[in-house]
Amino acid sequence: MPPKSSHVINSYTSIQAVKKSAEEKSKKDGKGRAVSNEQHPAAPPKVKPVGQSSNDARFAHTAKPTLHQIECYACGYTYNVRGSLASIICPKCKVSLDVKDYIINSEKIKDIATVGVVEINTAGIIKDSSIKANTIVLKGKLINSTAFANVSVEIFGGAEFDIDKIDTNNLIIGEGNSILSLKEELKHKNIEIRGKMKANIVSSGTVKIVSTGFFIGSIKAKTLIIEDGAGLLADLEIG
Ligand SMILES: [Zn+2]
Repeated sequence: MPPKSSHVINSYTSIQAVKKSAEEKSKKDGKGRAVSNEQHPAAPPKVKPVGQSSNDARFAHTAKPTLHQIECYACGYTYNVRGSLASIICPKCKVSLDVKDYIINSEKIKDIATVGVVEINTAGIIKDSSIKANTIVLKGKLINSTAFANVSVEIFGGAEFDIDKIDTNNLIIGEGNSILSLKEELKHKNIEIRGKMKANIVSSGTVKIVSTGFFIGSIKAKTLIIEDGAGLLADLEIG
């Protein structure tokens, strides 16, 4: 099928950003720096507030630092909570929601449902399970398991997973040197590439390649944002 408008870039290209992104500005201000996932301490019982991490800042529509976007994993009801999240009860179905963060460093068969963060580190394996969380970080293996994240899923090169079982509107390819290569089409709404990736993307939202990102493949998307310094070798169909 012929694209509405199509551009093909045939060589490795370092693209000068048309507009300086908000992220670049915020970096200069010392705000909005990506939090290193390596430095994660033992899981504190809290949820990442919307607008406080760099991940959220890119996708959030509001920037109130103490506003938490919660999706009840029992009934699917979505609402916002301000302030601390020591314990919360879904206002709709009255289920008491788990707010803990989970850091996975070994093999586990364990269904997890939390409004916090689930981080599967390089040695971590989740097998035959279901994960529901506000944010999921995947560096290890997700075998025969599903993952749903209300806010975002961040995947790093070297991770093993079935992309069709990862459900989120905001998929992030984490920064690093390993190339994440996918044969299946990526159909997530918004995709942000901070690392190296080879794939075919069909997105109904925004694809963003940040300055540390490098992408090979094809991109069909409503909007494409390429930061200064990003690498791109792709067939593009935008708009
Ligand atoms: Zn509920």
